[in-house]
Amino acid sequence: MAAIVNKETCVGCGACVDACPCGALSLGDGVAVVSDDCAACGACVEACPTDSITVE
Ligand code: SF4
Ligand code: SF4
Repeated sequence: MAAIVNKETCVGCGACVDACPCGALSLGDGVAVVSDDCAACGACVEACPTDSITVE
């Protein structure tokens, strides 16, 4: 289980980066990138204004 970012709809706003309690999100090339530190908590899913993150 880990967060998956839809690079087609992510606008690089950084809201998910601020919301992640694990420091698992960063911005790269204008989109959010998930690291191996993701704990699949779902906080970023709630924070994203464009519904670009799912936890699978
Ligand atoms: S699911 Fe939780 S731990 Fe994983 S990237 Fe999103 S906020 Fe961070
Ligand atoms: S909150 Fe959503 S739109 Fe904003 S950087 Fe994260 S994934 Fe992209």
